[in-house]
Amino acid sequence: MLTLTSPVKFLKGVGPKRAEALQRLGIRTVGDLLYHVPHRYLDATTITPLARAMVGQDVSCVGRVVSTGILPTRRGLRVFRAVLKDASGLLECAWPGRPFLERQIKKGQLLLVTGPVRYYHGKQLVPSEFIVLAEEGEGTGDEGLVLPVYPATEGLNHRHIRKLVQQHLDQLLPLVSDPHPAAFRQQHDLLDLKRALEVMHRPKKPEDVEPGRRRLAFDELFDQQLVQARARHLAKRARAGIRFVLKHELTTKLSDNLPFALTGDQKKAIREICGDMTAPLRMHRLLMGDVGTGKTVVALFAMLLAAENDYQAAIMAPTELLAEQHVATLTRLLEPLAIRPELLLGRMSNAEKAAARKRIAAGAPRIVVGTHALIQESVTFQKLGLAVIDEQHRFGVEQRAALVEKGNAPDVLLLTATPIPRSLALTFYGDLDVTQIRERPPGRGVVKTALRTDAARAKIYEFIRSECAAGRQAYVIYPVIDESERADLKAATTMAEKLAKTFPEFRVGLVHGRLKVDERDTTMRAFRDNKVQILVATTVIEVGIDVANATVMLIEHAERFGLAQLHQLRGRIGRGESAGHCILLSDSPEAAPRLQSFCETTDGFKIAELDLQERGMGELTGARQSGGIALRYANLETDLALLEAARQAAGAMIATDPALERREHVAYKDRIVTRYERGFELFRVG
Ligand code: ADP
Ligand code: MG
Repeated sequence: MLTLTSPVKFLKGVGPKRAEALQRLGIRTVGDLLYHVPHRYLDATTITPLARAMVGQDVSCVGRVVSTGILPTRRGLRVFRAVLKDASGLLECAWPGRPFLERQIKKGQLLLVTGPVRYYHGKQLVPSEFIVLAEEGEGTGDEGLVLPVYPATEGLNHRHIRKLVQQHLDQLLPLVSDPHPAAFRQQHDLLDLKRALEVMHRPKKPEDVEPGRRRLAFDELFDQQLVQARARHLAKRARAGIRFVLKHELTTKLSDNLPFALTGDQKKAIREICGDMTAPLRMHRLLMGDVGTGKTVVALFAMLLAAENDYQAAIMAPTELLAEQHVATLTRLLEPLAIRPELLLGRMSNAEKAAARKRIAAGAPRIVVGTHALIQESVTFQKLGLAVIDEQHRFGVEQRAALVEKGNAPDVLLLTATPIPRSLALTFYGDLDVTQIRERPPGRGVVKTALRTDAARAKIYEFIRSECAAGRQAYVIYPVIDESERADLKAATTMAEKLAKTFPEFRVGLVHGRLKVDERDTTMRAFRDNKVQILVATTVIEVGIDVANATVMLIEHAERFGLAQLHQLRGRIGRGESAGHCILLSDSPEAAPRLQSFCETTDGFKIAELDLQERGMGELTGARQSGGIALRYANLETDLALLEAARQAAGAMIATDPALERREHVAYKDRIVTRYERGFELFRVG
């Protein structure tokens, strides 16, 4: 008997060869085939009648081939031509340089063509794409209807797939049972599953498709959120933690002695963190905010809460420079409290390290700052109650875990200066609690961003000269997309040499990814100490590095950077009192609109959203895989409301039935266990 898990080869019309081709599309079972939905649809509203295709337009047309031929042009290029006919008239299509199409496009075929219309001895469509909809004498069977177009693969074109699906759809749909009860569907305005799959494969009108897609999207988000709710549930259960008590000793002293007023977002973040830390469960929170939004102070409050409860707190940074910077900030802020943070770095002498380790093990320092040196085996804490990990994405899972394991179920606070849109946060960090800081401390240098072309170079150099003459410093960023690209590195090196000649009165430094770490650190330190005034850099300059005196950033070939990346770079300036100037240099007219929109905002979350729209989900596969979840139907750019609904419903379900053991929930569990990498592991135990 056929079920959704039967191999596709059980279907009529699927032999071994075709089964193999289907497998390349990820289709193994008949259920997979049912879920292999069209990636687009053609319908009368998107098809231009042949006679109405206008020169200069981009059009999609459908017509029967009435004649074909190959024409040589004067320059020896051979052009394949086909004349199409529909009810409105005729149109010639031309494929320059592709005479071999003669073997594929034949008289009598029904063809779909997409491309620009131009004038060349007459009106011509130059297809960028064509699809054979039907052979001679064969109707599509769907003419006049909405025509589904499927993702195809070599040896299996979209027509084969469409035929296969249409042939079996009526037999397959009855096998589908909907795990959502009617009331649930109604509450979330969801189509019945059978109906959803039917309209995806066989819509009567173009508008039929979206409700179907929405249903499939909800299901995949719901599954994903069930997985995350389950992970959160298990983590919490295993997360009995320290119950800190607000003693209002060190924390109050700090707020009384702060040299500035906290921003509203900082206060909110501190409240949330204190809430977590005083609760019986372990904290597992991600604090997300642009560079300069003041995450360190927030973390310091948390560390002092641990300290006033007689615990130690540690903050781990990805580089020595950042760790040093934290020590400097913390030392300053902690001075009125007579607390000195302990520092542990790899580059300290063995004797120094040993002494620091000894003090840490004895519990003397309450606040410890360090790099990876903190997670060496030889390091032990007397009583670690809070682990803070700065720039958390720069550490591996094991490294983060290694710090956490230095304590006995300490609370965990992760920091990141890479804001991501809420939809992505819910997807990728679903098992963390997330706090956003969007507000910036007032009075700190604003950064003005401007887009310029190369014509303005001389003027820009004069500006840099005047800033440096006034004692300030500048970055010049060069795009080195791939550090192994010799040509890119050469360009950056040449740039540095040229600038050294242009600015003989200043020192010019160069850092890039191929330099040894200590060489790079030396130059960065020289820049920090204003021994180097102009720093030519590739994107390796540290996230979070704070050279308050640097006020200018010139970004060469700005069009070669993503918006999020540009934003990270821009975060390096405007950290001091003076206004910052970020200048994007680009001669690309295509990139101008996006670069211009970048100039107009400084909100990292907004830029993250723009970046997501720009790159689409395609680029995010790496990130997606890290979530263990591939989204096929949902679109995180537009389905945020659906995602929130799915998250809420999944949370509620796991709260009442954590292991999805109830009879009415078993279908969900089955689906997750078979579809998700982590599914089995998560639901194995009760
Ligand atoms: P980031 O979020 O990039 O880690 P930091 O915590 O390093 O930011 O803060 C950047 C600088 O801003 C530090 O020098 C810090 O002392 C200062 N700062 C933090 N909060 C405020 C505030 N509310 N008002 C003024 N300055 C602040
Ligand atoms: Mg920071």
